[in-house]
Amino acid sequence: MDSPDVLLQMRDICKIFPGNVALDNASLEVRRGEVHALVGQNGAGKSTMIKILTGAYQRDGGSILFDGRAVAFRSPADAQHNGISTIYQEINLVPLRSVAENIMLGKEPTRLGMIDWRKMNATAGELLRHVGIEVDVTRPLAEFNIAIQQMVAIARAVSFKSQLVVMDEPTSSLDDQEVETLFDTIRRLKANGVAVIFISHRLDELFAICDRVTIMRDGKTIETRDVKNIRKLELVSRMLGREIGEVQRGATSFTRAGERTAGETILEVEGVESDTILRNVSLDVRQGEIIGLAGLLGAGRTETARAIFGADPITAGEIRLKGKLLRMGSPANAIKAGIGYCSEDRKAEGIVPELSVADNMVLAALPHISRNGLVSAEKRRQIVEEFVRVLGIKTSSPDQPIRELSGGNQQKVLLARWLCLHPELLILDEPTRGIDVGAKGEIQKIVSQLAENGVGVLMITSEIEELTEGSDRVFVMRDGASVAELTEGEISQGAIMTAMAAEAGSHSAEGEGAGAQGAVV
Ligand code: ADP
Ligand code: MG
Repeated sequence: MDSPDVLLQMRDICKIFPGNVALDNASLEVRRGEVHALVGQNGAGKSTMIKILTGAYQRDGGSILFDGRAVAFRSPADAQHNGISTIYQEINLVPLRSVAENIMLGKEPTRLGMIDWRKMNATAGELLRHVGIEVDVTRPLAEFNIAIQQMVAIARAVSFKSQLVVMDEPTSSLDDQEVETLFDTIRRLKANGVAVIFISHRLDELFAICDRVTIMRDGKTIETRDVKNIRKLELVSRMLGREIGEVQRGATSFTRAGERTAGETILEVEGVESDTILRNVSLDVRQGEIIGLAGLLGAGRTETARAIFGADPITAGEIRLKGKLLRMGSPANAIKAGIGYCSEDRKAEGIVPELSVADNMVLAALPHISRNGLVSAEKRRQIVEEFVRVLGIKTSSPDQPIRELSGGNQQKVLLARWLCLHPELLILDEPTRGIDVGAKGEIQKIVSQLAENGVGVLMITSEIEELTEGSDRVFVMRDGASVAELTEGEISQGAIMTAMAAEAGSHSAEGEGAGAQGAVV
């Protein structure tokens, strides 16, 4: 081991899934008693790294040194018995058992061969006090909120005398108060010499609680830095793999944004809140505009799309379509009102793999082209042929199962599904993610053309070039709120990243990283 204060050394870790290199010589070094942030865009490899550490996955290459020994844990339980506990977002406890049982599971104190309940409850209560909470440990775990349940998981970790506690997105379902409680616990762990690996998309949290940060991108480790020596904007730019202020003209195939003319307002979103994570979202889309929606993972972009489409209820604020309030939204109403929504997750929410190209395409239009429940075969054929031609969908026949198509062609079929309904507003969530460069360009052209034909497009994208080159205006979201609107002339990588990264003001360290605001552009 390089130095006595190094607790964990993961070196050159490789993990290959079929058709997908998840980790490519990734490394991670954690010191004793430090809080170490692991950050990166969705899919960067953070969770896989943790799963390999804890033995949930086996690695295809690389080495792990823990506490001075080369290790290869067989399972998370094995890792736990050796001093590494993991607290997942989805808590892996037993809801109907008591709090005490959950903490003591697997190492219940016994007397004369029987569980010693009194001792068990007392020990559990003591462990919980250590992490700063006091509850009736005989009550079923399910009676407590997520924050308490997480504390129980932590108390369990402490009971194993863990030297390292891994928290993979522990705060995503906690409110501010609960986050504070969790932070107190983390500080207590740290004070006791326990190291913590902290994965979170909320940069404020990272700056508030972490000592060092390791940045991952595309399965690789980019670098490890002291948190006090990196600004948020720089961190974001490293995560995205962009130089601050870098301009890469011509990286996309959108037609110039300036060439379109915006018509009447189609969509107005005002002060929207939801039970998901939306706190205050306001934006608008006019006819013939492409509106970019920017933000880091977890900022609430997809949640905004779902709220507009009526897939998630809103708890405050208003959504108006062409001036008319959308009440009690549902996707069916949204579709009727003229909204189309291509979801981010093509595989899970989009395509029906076993169905044909044609069937996938007319799925949403079905109620509109059927009479007395019967679909006119002729009508269906016309629609399908038209869109296969117009969008240049490469398929051997409309009857080919969609799963046999490339990602780009599947995405075109999904676009066609909404286009055949002639929507006035089209919401596209990461429309070019995971498809090859050629198909990407084609989809960007199609989206431009739609806008030229008067469709209002709300485009969620994590590709900065799609925002700078494709969007007429950009709204930036952070922590469930829209925090900036950039109009033509104001849109630049620097401006977008600055707005994505800036302080949210809630539970943040004093002044740390605030220098990012307005520092660049
Ligand atoms: P992160 O936690 O940083 O969002 P992950 O570690 O979950 O990223 O994923 C890294 C990459 O590995 C992604 O491309 C993901 O799709 C892929 N991946 C993760 N788990 C599996 C799996 N069980 N099978 C196939 N691919 C996977
Ligand atoms: Mg993950």
